[in-house]
Amino acid sequence: MENCLFCKIAEGSIPSNKVYEDEQFLVFHDIQPAAPSHVLIIPKKHIATMNDVGPEDFALIGEMHRIAQEAAKKLGVAESGYRLINNCGKDSGQAVYHIHYHLLGGAPLGALVQ
Ligand code: IMP
Repeated sequence: MENCLFCKIAEGSIPSNKVYEDEQFLVFHDIQPAAPSHVLIIPKKHIATMNDVGPEDFALIGEMHRIAQEAAKKLGVAESGYRLINNCGKDSGQAVYHIHYHLLGGAPLGALVQ
């Protein structure tokens, strides 16, 4: 989608620090990490918010959780634990309107991430 930051990152026209990529997903480091490990998991398909996920996307969203598990292992936080966050809409503070999960870990998070 035109003018979507994460679509541009997904297609490679804006660079990112990649952790994982396949045909459907990209995992890359957040530019302003809020924890020692902080990556973003995006589908390459443009979906603006969790509210816009339709039945045709349910399998994709399920698969996103598998990608999150793999990313946590790759980052070395699977056993110690991590937080998976989706911000949806204005009150959540969603800044980029292309659906994503934040995966945060690498330290006890209570004090680091609200
Ligand atoms: P949101 O508030 O849930 O929409 O989170 C958007 C996230 O994208 C924030 O944590 C930003 O730091 C991150 N972000 C914004 N621009 C970039 C970028 O160019 N590369 C990587 N992360 C970014």
